[in-house]
Amino acid sequence: MTELPSQYHRNLPYGERMSADELIGDSLFPFEGDLQVVPLADPELPEPLRAGEPGGKPCYTCTDPDKFVIWRDDQWHLKAFENHGLPFVAVLEPREHYRLDNLPPELTATLGVMIQRVAGAIGRIDAVGRTHFSRWGDGSEHFHLWFLARPLGQMQLRGAMLALWDDLLPNVPSEQHQEHVRLVAAALAEDGGEAVDLPATE
Ligand SMILES: [Zn+2]
Repeated sequence: MTELPSQYHRNLPYGERMSADELIGDSLFPFEGDLQVVPLADPELPEPLRAGEPGGKPCYTCTDPDKFVIWRDDQWHLKAFENHGLPFVAVLEPREHYRLDNLPPELTATLGVMIQRVAGAIGRIDAVGRTHFSRWGDGSEHFHLWFLARPLGQMQLRGAMLALWDDLLPNVPSEQHQEHVRLVAAALAEDGGEAVDLPATE
């Protein structure tokens, strides 16, 4: 194993399986019965390069800037994805390639406004109770913010397990997905920017 980088790491039981007891029986945990946690893997250092990092795979967004885009303005675009179980799954990205730490002030200034606008637009879908957002950035360097719509009234889907439920629920039918896309893109365009053509079916 590479040298462990911190006291935190030295405390961890590598190769061992944690107990799932803390989660089993929790009202928001989507699994029951016998569950085995995978053994804790060793740290990988240095970490593998993300797409878009120098020396890594090319940036997905900069390679194909229009793919999945349903709305854009001069600074931002919103992508929406088919074949998901939640009523709407989308990603907000700056059109230019930035990381969170080097996002210029003109983009950090409008990020909050965009979060509010995107959540509001997704909330127009009748199936949606609340729209959550999260920044996971371990796959691609190009800054991107995920939006996950929780179905109305499905209180079992509250919290971080929502991302798992997205994989567990049956996919939204293609036609319905396209209706949702049109509605969200049009709602965003009401306050600026342009709705763009529907993304091609995957
Ligand atoms: Zn990029």
